[in-house]
Amino acid sequence: MTTMINAPSEAARKDTTAAVSHRRRALSVVAPVHNEELNLEDLHSELSGVLQSAGLDYEIIYVDDGSRDTSLKILKSVADRDERVIVVELRRNFGQTAAMAAGIEHSCGDVIIPIDADLQNDPNDIPRLLDTLNGTPRYDIVSGWRKDRKDKMVTRRIPSQIANAIISRVTNVPIHDFGCTLKAYRREVLEDVSLSSDLHRFLPALAAWHGANITELVVNHRPRTRGVTKYGLARTIRVLLDLVIVKFLGTYMTKPLLFFGKIGMATFGFALLILAIAVGQKFGYFGQPEGLNLNRNILVSLSALLAFFTVQCVLFGLMAELLVRVYQDGRGRKIYRVREVYSSAKAGDA
Ligand code: UDP
Ligand code: MG
Repeated sequence: MTTMINAPSEAARKDTTAAVSHRRRALSVVAPVHNEELNLEDLHSELSGVLQSAGLDYEIIYVDDGSRDTSLKILKSVADRDERVIVVELRRNFGQTAAMAAGIEHSCGDVIIPIDADLQNDPNDIPRLLDTLNGTPRYDIVSGWRKDRKDKMVTRRIPSQIANAIISRVTNVPIHDFGCTLKAYRREVLEDVSLSSDLHRFLPALAAWHGANITELVVNHRPRTRGVTKYGLARTIRVLLDLVIVKFLGTYMTKPLLFFGKIGMATFGFALLILAIAVGQKFGYFGQPEGLNLNRNILVSLSALLAFFTVQCVLFGLMAELLVRVYQDGRGRKIYRVREVYSSAKAGDA
């Protein structure tokens, strides 16, 4: 008989999020934390001060993303003092996006507001974000815009402005600051999108593709006074690579055959064109006095190669269609999103 020591039972695995199921709050603030020991006490008192004086029904979720300093210890003592606090401890450093995803998964608020733990975002902006979210028109996402950003010019602000301009163009989502953590999301729009890699900044774009109403609000940004930033110039490059994934997911996720089919049609067109040139050469249309026999013309091989590539593309597109179906069925996903259903019948009527 073998005993499995490392594999937790299904029940134990569910336990980590079980606490969420019976809770319900109006607002969850989610802060990813990686080596922020010098900021946490101030962050918590500032944050809870603002949330309390705004009279909000809130919880704060701190996600310790594999900190190697005393952050976790501080967070645990904060949680002991304040029952509105939940601390999620990750096993190692998984990165800011993963930490945010973990926080969101353990949250129960109808609205979710992520915030940096380094005090660069201003908690005083939270009530304003909520007012805009619930104003008229009603929005699904209000995105913070650090118009006057307090980070290094050359390594952070300029690359980020370029990246933001590109992302906005490619995704067709007209906001200025995808990278700003401080944003307000309605829970239902987040349930549709799965976070991976550095994709948290693309949440507005992913959500927009699912039909979310988005607007932006200028928020305060403060310089980092304690602790160090975890990012530099290399981050922008990763962000731009992620954009390729996002664009692909957003545009072709539901119709991959169209994507591969278009490439296939283009190469098929080339194949025909090249074959036509080869035939033309045989009859001397392109200046050869004796004509060039097809069996000696390299263009025929090229044309055949392209035709073969066309078949490959279409087959690949079909395979991808199958994959997408498996993915969507398996996760109970739908190819549409309903905002609301109207009916004059009262709830409970058949
Ligand atoms: N962070 C995290 N995991 C990481 C890197 C960063 O949880 O691997 C957190 C960090 O503690 C902070 C937020 O993400 O609360 C933003 O990080 P940082 O201030 O370094 O980024 P910047 O403001 O310089 O873009
Ligand atoms: Mg920061």
